[in-house]
Amino acid sequence: MNRAPLSLPRPWRWRGVLSAALLALFYVLPWLRWNGRQALLLDLTARRFDLFGWTLWPDDVGVLLGLLAVLAVSLALLTHLAGRVWCGHGCPQTLWMRAFDGIARALARWLPARVAGPATRLSWLLLSLWTGITFVGLFSPIQDLLGAATHAGWTGGELFWVLFYSAATYGNAGFLREQVCRSLCPFARLQPLLTDPHTPRMLYDARRGEPRGPRPPALGGVLGRGRGLLDAVTAQDYVFRAAHPLLAGPMPTFSADRLGDCLDCAACVSACPMQLDIRHGPQADCLACGACLEACAQQQHRAGFGPGLVRYCSPQRMAGQARHWWRPRTTALASLLLALLACGAWRLS
Ligand code: SF4
Ligand code: SF4
Repeated sequence: MNRAPLSLPRPWRWRGVLSAALLALFYVLPWLRWNGRQALLLDLTARRFDLFGWTLWPDDVGVLLGLLAVLAVSLALLTHLAGRVWCGHGCPQTLWMRAFDGIARALARWLPARVAGPATRLSWLLLSLWTGITFVGLFSPIQDLLGAATHAGWTGGELFWVLFYSAATYGNAGFLREQVCRSLCPFARLQPLLTDPHTPRMLYDARRGEPRGPRPPALGGVLGRGRGLLDAVTAQDYVFRAAHPLLAGPMPTFSADRLGDCLDCAACVSACPMQLDIRHGPQADCLACGACLEACAQQQHRAGFGPGLVRYCSPQRMAGQARHWWRPRTTALASLLLALLACGAWRLS
């Protein structure tokens, strides 16, 4: 059967490219030069911070703290307005987990199974070591660091920090993985303070998807075949029954023409790095990474249904209500950001 090429919403189609670009930026950063010096260098021994031609000295520590405060409040405002885009696309934990997964997938495809496992672990180890060297290269001139590795040898401090960051990379991305987001990350704990029902998040459209189940091929989507959307209460009842079969009792049996658009294929669950089932409703651990959206869009496309069964939108929009861009928390965070910027401008003038 001929189908149009799979069309994903634009931000999600480029998420792999964005991850690769951010990782490349990290590995390139210590090698950039500015006026003959390393462009970005927090040189603790010399007590100077070079930032693309701008040099901060110990008595500029207030400027550095102000810069960090501006970045923190900007991140809070971004999360409030756009959801967990940082967690899903910019956070180092997400980027390195995605890189490790990409390596494992590629080697599993190219190598025989008995070789792929050890080759994956060796590749992870080498990437972690290079990450450790790159990170320490932001604090100790990277050319000297690499020169010392081949000639004089590293100091005890350099060796310790390179090994420490290598082990942290391997441990976080290859071993602890989603537990870092779930149990260790303090930013994840702040989400309820930053978001409200107008903040976008990854959502499953239960009115369209329920009742879920496999169906004969060529049965159209609910909108195409005229079944339409369920009312919200019935849809949530089916979601609850599917999520808690022991509590709610068995699901009724539905004829094929009463089924919703969810094929119950579990592709969204398999794709999720946090091992969540997005169909259970909004979840605090969801990183908004878009993996379930892409997996579901592919399944829906293969079935000949339209996209959007899993989509990134606010609960208000999903319920058909208007979205309010400006809310009390927007005012508070935007005012704080403006105040910090004004203080910075005054201090630097
Ligand atoms: S449910 Fe899982 S796959 Fe979907 S956006 Fe959230 S973390 Fe990513
Ligand atoms: S991938 Fe889509 S169709 Fe498949 S189970 Fe998940 S929500 Fe349903």
